[in-house]
Amino acid sequence: MEYISTRGAAPRLDFEGVTLAGLASDGGLYSPREWPHFSEDEIAALRGLPYPELAARVMQPFVGDSLTPARLRELCETAYGRFAHKAVTPLVQLDERHWVLELFHGPTLAFKDVALQLLGLLFEDFLARREENLTIVGATSGDTGSAAIDAVAGRERVDVFMLHPRGRVSDVQRRQMTTVLAPNVHNIAIDGSFDDAQAMVKRMFADQALTSRFRIGAVNSINWARLMAQVVYYFAAALQLGAPGRKVAFSVPTGNFGDVFAGHVAARMGLPIERLIVATNVNDILHRALTDGDYSTGTVTPTAAPSMDIQVSSNFERLLFDVGGRDGAALAEQMRGFETTRAMRLTNAQRDGVADLFASARADASETAKAMRWAYENCGEVLDPHTAIGLHAARQAELDPAIPLVTLATAHPAKFPDAVERATGIRPALPARVGDLFERQERYAELPGEYDAVAAYVAERATPAA
Ligand SMILES: *Cc1c(COP(=O)(O)O)cnc(C)c1O
Repeated sequence: MEYISTRGAAPRLDFEGVTLAGLASDGGLYSPREWPHFSEDEIAALRGLPYPELAARVMQPFVGDSLTPARLRELCETAYGRFAHKAVTPLVQLDERHWVLELFHGPTLAFKDVALQLLGLLFEDFLARREENLTIVGATSGDTGSAAIDAVAGRERVDVFMLHPRGRVSDVQRRQMTTVLAPNVHNIAIDGSFDDAQAMVKRMFADQALTSRFRIGAVNSINWARLMAQVVYYFAAALQLGAPGRKVAFSVPTGNFGDVFAGHVAARMGLPIERLIVATNVNDILHRALTDGDYSTGTVTPTAAPSMDIQVSSNFERLLFDVGGRDGAALAEQMRGFETTRAMRLTNAQRDGVADLFASARADASETAKAMRWAYENCGEVLDPHTAIGLHAARQAELDPAIPLVTLATAHPAKFPDAVERATGIRPALPARVGDLFERQERYAELPGEYDAVAAYVAERATPAA
């Protein structure tokens, strides 16, 4: 499989290349040159497979010659063997129409584990083959950092440096990162805000003194391999509910548009998806874009669902590319305009293409709490605030009632105990497997909010690229 940039001007790469690349050199995002397609018979033949095998079959066309089918299957078995549930992403019924797809049974209790656990293994394989080393740098306000650290802890040829704003992440979130004591994991608490940490990371990518010696990499959701791994659970859920003979709809709590874009990929591959509902909180740039074509940034309002508190959704560019005629030059111009004015209108072709499959809804704080209460009082299910936003959107949807509606559960409720307790009166406990989090030893560096100090710290400890 060959990959092209959404902005049309970067070199084409194979799967190994895009996995290690991150952003394309023209500023765009890598996407497959064409979508693989599974016939109804091929989809029916996936029924009943164990998750790791299903994953390997769905991903093989995207991986191409970069891994043998046997090696891909081994990696899937290792990655998904670390999940606490044999089904990996179990489906739970709420009522005659609504279902919840639990994506939080991985080591850090967030759906990001599903993709990052595999990504860590892919890095290790590809770097060994090239005899190269990778230095991952990131800034986190919570969830992504712990999932990324867990995914690469102890992996060969990868170091991770994760910055968090000192005193500004919750104790659970900090401990999920700082109790990982593998020597290739470097947690850094910096004095300053999350934005200060993020700005330092951006500067490292552009810092010649670092980039000339180290291969600096990222693990954010612009990485194609992450999206690819998320396509699998759309297949898993739809197969459970009767695909290919029956259509299914999904509601997806959305931030950077990675998770819901994976649903779009599944539909392109032939999975019978009736509708993808993009659920947002009050930071609703995507809801505005999907309802009236207005993609303009505002200021971020902090909510009980912090992973959805976004200003722009980087992966939305992939959708605009795909539904707008795959014209890299035109999209590059549109995105340049957006980067200058922080606003743009979708073209008619983009709006029509998006309307074929997507719908959207937004939930404010009281609607989010109401959805949590509804699920608890009627179904005995305790949902986290992100998932509750998805459920609110699903319950607003105007769809044929015969079509099952699956809400993606993106975090374990115990990651957000205060918000859950406020809404339902129930304080969710951490699962037993992470229950000793508060007894474990922590290790992290404390550095001043000065770029030179942080860059020097990285340079002293990272392994040169080759
Ligand atoms: C990252 C995250 C999201 C948003 O997913 P995107 O792929 O960025 O749209 C939603 N919920 C939770 C809990 C997350 O961690």
